[in-house]
Amino acid sequence: MAGNDAATSATQIELAQIERIFHLGDSVVRALDRVDLRIAAGEYIAVMGPSGSGKSTLLNVLGLLDRPDAGHYRLEGRDVTTLSANEQAAVRSRRIGFIFQSFHLVPRLTAAENIALPMVLAGISGPQRQSRVRDALAGVGLTDRADHRPDQLSGGQRQRVAIARATIMQPAMLLADEPTGNLDRHTGEEVLRLLEQLNAGGVTLIVVTHDAALGARAQRRLLMEDGAIRHDERQQPAVPASSNAHD
Ligand code: ADP
Ligand code: MG
Repeated sequence: MAGNDAATSATQIELAQIERIFHLGDSVVRALDRVDLRIAAGEYIAVMGPSGSGKSTLLNVLGLLDRPDAGHYRLEGRDVTTLSANEQAAVRSRRIGFIFQSFHLVPRLTAAENIALPMVLAGISGPQRQSRVRDALAGVGLTDRADHRPDQLSGGQRQRVAIARATIMQPAMLLADEPTGNLDRHTGEEVLRLLEQLNAGGVTLIVVTHDAALGARAQRRLLMEDGAIRHDERQQPAVPASSNAHD
């Protein structure tokens, strides 16, 4: 990054007139309706809004899991809308971590194997994978759960495995679609705190949440409605509650 001028290093994500349209029988759903959005590296953003307003569609487009029908998406200065599926997969693998509400872990694999998976797909050697998985497990406080399968872990532990998997390739951005939606309040806060720690280390963090109290912790909030960003507000983050919680 050193040596880049401010303009190139500041803007990480740039959406211009992004549209995503679904056809259901005769009806047309504008899941994203000409969305413009600019995000700087290192921001912490909460995406809020009613069910069906386009939050997941926005995240999927940002994460290169879905292609817009119109508009342009520039990621780190490069137009990624015109890339082939394989080229997009390569960008996704190196730059983007995705976290889902329902964890999306592979049931038959252990925590360590789930975390290693992105490195297997990227062709990273076995010995290097092992040491990175060890560090990642320690980073999410699950060293003693390395050999457990997802069904042997609590919801909060599963989400921490998913976070370790999403960050094992050291992505520039983390996209989390209702990451606390299947967790109780206390566990959800712990998971969010872990994501916030990663953001403090420099990763851009974009979190979809229904929870106003969790959303209030972000530096910037996007409120979606009918496929559009109705409000884009920046605010001092709320003072976090005492952090003496452990599970
Ligand atoms: P949110 O995450 O805010 O609840 P979504 O982005 O999932 O909203 O959906 C936005 C709109 O697009 C909704 O009306 C939804 O029904 C529609 N939609 C999303 N994905 C699809 C799809 N694969 N096929 C058809 N309609 C979809
Ligand atoms: Mg959604």
